[in-house]
Amino acid sequence: MGRGVDSKLGGKMLRDIISAFGRRQVSLIFFRYKYMVLILSCVLFLWACLGDSTSSVKSVHPVHQALEELEPEYPDFEEKTEKEINNRNIKETVHKTVHKTVHRKKKDPSLLREKILSSKVEDEERSKLLVIPSDSESKIHNQDLDKQYQKPVSPRRRENTLNGVMMRNQDPVDVEWVVVGGADIYKAQDVGGRGGYDEFLQDFAKQVEGAGEGGEPVHLSGVEKQQGEEILKKEAFNLVASDKIIYTRSVPDTRDRRCQAVHYDANLPTASIVIIFTNEAWSPLIRTIYSVLNRSPAEFIHEIILVDDFSDKKHLGSKLERFIRKYFPSKVKLLRLKERQGLIRARLTGARAATGDVLIFLDSHCECNTGWLEPLLQRIKEEPMAFVVPIIDVIDDKTMEYYHGNGNYFQVGGFTWGGHFTWIDISPEELARRGSPIAPTRSPTMAGGLFAVSRKTFWDLGSYDEEMDVWGGENLEMSFRVWQCGGVLETIPCSRVGHIFRSFHPYSFPGNKDTHGINTARTVEVWMDEYKKLFYMHRPDLLSTDIGSVKNRNKFREDKQCKPFSWFLKNIYHQKFILDDPEHVYAYGRLRNPNTDTCLDNLQNDDKDR
Ligand code: UDP
Ligand code: MN
Repeated sequence: MGRGVDSKLGGKMLRDIISAFGRRQVSLIFFRYKYMVLILSCVLFLWACLGDSTSSVKSVHPVHQALEELEPEYPDFEEKTEKEINNRNIKETVHKTVHKTVHRKKKDPSLLREKILSSKVEDEERSKLLVIPSDSESKIHNQDLDKQYQKPVSPRRRENTLNGVMMRNQDPVDVEWVVVGGADIYKAQDVGGRGGYDEFLQDFAKQVEGAGEGGEPVHLSGVEKQQGEEILKKEAFNLVASDKIIYTRSVPDTRDRRCQAVHYDANLPTASIVIIFTNEAWSPLIRTIYSVLNRSPAEFIHEIILVDDFSDKKHLGSKLERFIRKYFPSKVKLLRLKERQGLIRARLTGARAATGDVLIFLDSHCECNTGWLEPLLQRIKEEPMAFVVPIIDVIDDKTMEYYHGNGNYFQVGGFTWGGHFTWIDISPEELARRGSPIAPTRSPTMAGGLFAVSRKTFWDLGSYDEEMDVWGGENLEMSFRVWQCGGVLETIPCSRVGHIFRSFHPYSFPGNKDTHGINTARTVEVWMDEYKKLFYMHRPDLLSTDIGSVKNRNKFREDKQCKPFSWFLKNIYHQKFILDDPEHVYAYGRLRNPNTDTCLDNLQNDDKDR
């Protein structure tokens, strides 16, 4: 053994160690070779530190990762980025990268922003990163960030955040899009289709320059007038007039003038816009999509999800797919349902496919107005439990006129005991509470077609009653549930969206069922407690109608420990007239004249408000 040891000292040391172990005198070794031990420990310590720092270089900072993924195209860009990463001046790196990408117009800066937003950086830190600093600011090194990102970040799928809360409530679904827009991928051809046949020319040819511009009405004459009246009976609105208006017409800014002075955060949650449709006419659907794209800051539109609820109209088949591919950007995506589901399940399908922070539902015949999006997102950012609705402007079903008033009068949602939605005036208490005419205004109920909510809250608060069919009642169900289970429902006065109000439904109701009645009966069974008898007074027929089981919904109410309906009436809709409340009425019932055996009847004239 001794022969294998070359150095004199080494040989002697080894012999000493062996003999010391033999004599069980280990302490002797440390005493005799204390300097050697000291040097050895130092070397070991240094080695350990070096190893540690090497591994920290390998760890992936989400921002670094985003930068790397940007595939730097310019040599100096790459060099600088690498250097700056080493310096760990993240703020400056982001600033310069954004500056360069903007400056050279080669890369979309929103790409970087999106990547940073999608990273797991804490919200506060994230907002720091997104601030493009001035020169002096950019010199500040963020020590905390340095420490925080020593740990390697595991690979992750794209997730959005809202105020730092991860969306985990709904399992992600594998979405098979039927088509996604391609206008930003393949260069869109000019309208007019230079060379070759453009199938959309027929539609463009119908459009008349200036028609309906500024939200003005389209007045038809002669044959067109007749055609318009005919089609009104089928589509429930004047499609001839609509087809004359370009897809991107302007509409009057109907907002309260004070809204123009409101500033919104630069960093707002992103939106998934869900537009469902069944057999919608062509031009209103296309106009709805354009109005979203053209009147929203692009960075806040995460995606526009179109859900076709089993339409069979020809123009909504492959023609629609080709139009989307040709004219819309890739954020516009289409899903098709394999059988008719009705608006409730169609919206749920869209919501399941969505990955933005906020869900915004729109009908397929809307026109979003100037600045409609930011106030909705801002409010949800501030109050994550809020379900918010824009003021719904009226687009005339006969002339397509976009109505505008003085901008500051609007109503909120109520309901009748017969189970219908109504518009009601804002209560004096709420007028006082909200503080400003353009502040979020509490609404007891919502109309239903247009609303925005954080995706997390949508699922947390029970999404929709999946067993409701086709149309109707779901808006009151959602309204009661939101209030009773801890949410808030508000109208946001600075957000305005036009909607074509139709006088009948231009689509079928499978089985000719009264889905509104049945869905409302499901609503009252779950949410109205003893007050449901007031509903059944109006609809005794529904007492003996099969409305399916509401077990799941009752369980949800129980699990969430939602408040009783009496709480809602007292605190949110205290002005509601209650038929059997002694404070409201002396007596109620039927007034019959026994001599003539006739009853007093209001011919339902007053029904709207009750
Ligand atoms: N809708 C749907 N499936 C249905 C019924 C309606 O997808 O079975 C869609 C419809 O195309 C529209 C939205 O749901 O985009 C709301 O319907 P509608 O506009 O008829 O309701 P209203 O505005 O009259 O209350
Ligand atoms: Mn509608």
